[in-house]
Amino acid sequence: MTRTIKGPGSFDVAIVGAGAAGMYCAAQAGGRGARVVLIDHAPRLAEKIRISGGGRCNFTNLEGDQIDRYLGDDPLFARFALREHPPAEFVDLVRRYRIGFHEKHRGQLFCDTSAEEIIAMLVAECDRAGVEWRRPVAVRSVARSGQGFQLQTDAGSIDARRLVVATGGLPVPKIGATDWGLILAKQFGLIVVEPRPALVPLTFTAQDWTAFVPLAGISLEVGIQVQPQSVDPVASGRRTKPVRFVEDLLFTHRGLSGPAVLQTSSFWRPGDALQVNLLPGQELAKDLVQLKSGGRKALSTILAERLPRRLAQDGFEPLTGHPAALGSSRIADFPDRVLEDLSGRIQSWTMTPSGSEGWRKAEVMRGGVSTRELDPRTMESRRIPGLHFIGEVVDITGWLGGYNFQWAWSSATVCARAMTELGD
Ligand SMILES: Cc1cc2nc3c(=O)[nH]c(=O)nc-3n(C[C@H](O)[C@H](O)[C@H](O)COP(=O)(O)OP(=O)(O)OC[C@H]3O[C@@H](n4cnc5c(N)ncnc54)[C@H](O)[C@@H]3O)c2cc1C
Repeated sequence: MTRTIKGPGSFDVAIVGAGAAGMYCAAQAGGRGARVVLIDHAPRLAEKIRISGGGRCNFTNLEGDQIDRYLGDDPLFARFALREHPPAEFVDLVRRYRIGFHEKHRGQLFCDTSAEEIIAMLVAECDRAGVEWRRPVAVRSVARSGQGFQLQTDAGSIDARRLVVATGGLPVPKIGATDWGLILAKQFGLIVVEPRPALVPLTFTAQDWTAFVPLAGISLEVGIQVQPQSVDPVASGRRTKPVRFVEDLLFTHRGLSGPAVLQTSSFWRPGDALQVNLLPGQELAKDLVQLKSGGRKALSTILAERLPRRLAQDGFEPLTGHPAALGSSRIADFPDRVLEDLSGRIQSWTMTPSGSEGWRKAEVMRGGVSTRELDPRTMESRRIPGLHFIGEVVDITGWLGGYNFQWAWSSATVCARAMTELGD
């Protein structure tokens, strides 16, 4: 069990944020002989790990060291940490604790039983390393003091030679997410890339979406990608090229969700459209034109053999722009150009979201402390020696599928190793 020790203290390392990155860093720095204090304000420990992966924590991805799975102003920043501490090293630890796990989909590793096992493992590692806990404890202020930092907390003042900020991102404020780390970075004059919700469902105006509301609950595999609207040539020049995903899409009452849209949302900016192929891997226009000869079936029946029935029927008009009644006409009666037009709309359905479900529903934050400010080998500020940032608070964001935890483990590891090697 974690202990809250009240009172002041003097440490080699103070870590604020006892989530994935904070606990992993504390355990490793403590294990290498540093006197570490780990501070968190939340009444319940590591809530984000607890709710992750639907309660089973998708704790890494077998491809988690592939740099093209990460976004940010400079994703290459993450390369050193991911190479230094690849997924296999974290998997070894999980195995040592005899935590059962399985690969679910495309390299995603989930606990067989519960995310609680990952939390218990991290707590055990911290306790084994002699980490001192301060929780639930809020940090009121941080100031430079001699060679280190002085933190004023609810549990007295803490002096530490090094300060590690591991306060995570802004998603899900009701379980303790704050912008504390970003404000601290600004207090020390560091650049912060504007945060925005990512891995988040996208929404549409009521006017654009009313016709799609009856489709809520329909799910299907699609090909999807952002179509950027290059309004700002400077910003768009720095944009990561949008990736095309083939994943499941879910229609909701307010817009689109499911892995396809969550993945795409990380590349989306206001004004961008989404281009969706509702029948990936098929050549619908060619098929329909071929089916014309002697075809007695209604067009909607043929579409329902390829798409979810409700989508083919209720979605015919909003998706294709043609009246629903047209769907019941025999395929043989359609001119080729109408079938080609219909197919184009189904295989290249284009809609412009008006926004997202925001921090309440986002799984991760894009933006954060600029990687230009940090040394990728130590996660230390280039300008403020002794100040480190790890995990989601840094401007590195992983794809859906275990990549964000892998970034937390890898960035925590290089930070812990560097701190104990660098000494003062
Ligand atoms: C619903 C959901 C499901 C997810 N599922 C997955 C998944 O399956 N796989 C995956 O890879 N990623 C998943 N993620 C993302 C993943 O949880 C985060 O990327 C990861 O937890 C980031 O680790 P971190 O240590 O940087 O931050 P966190 O784990 O969020 O930890 C930050 C800690 O800082 C503390 N803190 C914040 N502000 C303060 C303050 N002012 N003072 C003191 N303490 C503070 C918080 O209480 C928290 O304990 C999911 C996220 C959500 C919201």
